[in-house]
Amino acid sequence: LRTARGLVVQTSAKVNLTLEVLRKREDGYHELATILQSVDLWDRLTVEPADSLSLVTSDPALPTDEGNLVIRAARLLRDAAGVNRGAQLRLDKRIPVAAGLGGGSSDAAAALWALNRMWGIRWPVKRLQELAERLGMDVPFFEGKGRALATGRGERLAALPATGGLGLVLVNPNFPLSTKEVYQRVPSGWSQEATGTGRMIAALRSRSPRQVAAALTNNLQAVVGPAVPAITKMKAALLAAGALGAVMSGSGPTVFGVARSYDHARAIRRRVTRAGWSVWAVRTQGGACIRQARSRG
Ligand code: ATP
Repeated sequence: LRTARGLVVQTSAKVNLTLEVLRKREDGYHELATILQSVDLWDRLTVEPADSLSLVTSDPALPTDEGNLVIRAARLLRDAAGVNRGAQLRLDKRIPVAAGLGGGSSDAAAALWALNRMWGIRWPVKRLQELAERLGMDVPFFEGKGRALATGRGERLAALPATGGLGLVLVNPNFPLSTKEVYQRVPSGWSQEATGTGRMIAALRSRSPRQVAAALTNNLQAVVGPAVPAITKMKAALLAAGALGAVMSGSGPTVFGVARSYDHARAIRRRVTRAGWSVWAVRTQGGACIRQARSRG
């Protein structure tokens, strides 16, 4: 096998254009329908050949052992593919942690992707996605392209035509929310129909930001909102600054708004200036969620 030298990849954040939690399953998971959309806010992962596995990260609050999804992904791939090599990994975080933007899942997907190359494993995307599912429901999405419909527990993926270029504004209140705890707050007996996701697919086909904005939905917002007042405030601030519509992403607390264009998104970003909040103007991505940034060595 030809051994690649080190490489650097950038891996995107996602927002949920819709998130409809339908019901609680016997196995403790939730049945859901969601449209995942990659945006151009990136973490960066560098991998280099080494004898053992090690990780350093730019965020001192993150674990660098088994607690980090990057290490878990590396171990999983190494065992599944039966390789007997190590890697020195460096993770530069730009995506806020526990934010509803899928950062950890994205990093895990990037680790599988980069090590699949560097270790010369050469598995196709489909096979990486099967492995990825064991790391988390959102991980398979990041192995693929910018927009997908996810159903079941979130692991069943169908690609959606991705047009890209929609301007969004993300607002994060700089505190984390645990996905697990949010889902635990979903009342037992919860039962809802997936009506918003079909509407969003039609809105995306129209390519009209106004229609996309009108179709935004996240029924976890009703579960999280009462306990986290910042969510209502961020949403109101986005709308007051000119967003066409706004909704919480995933299990929160990040809220995003839809703009008329990327320029409009940047104008909105400048108007949402509350101390303690982080704000980004981003574009939706049509292409691969993981990209090679530059080769090393
Ligand atoms: P999702 O949108 O999929 O619910 P999230 O954006 O809310 O995810 P993450 O940023 O993925 O949440 O992090 C959730 C938890 O996972 C954090 O508490 C963090 O300690 C842990 N974690 C492990 N590895 C990573 C990583 N590489 N980056 C971020 N968090 C990680």
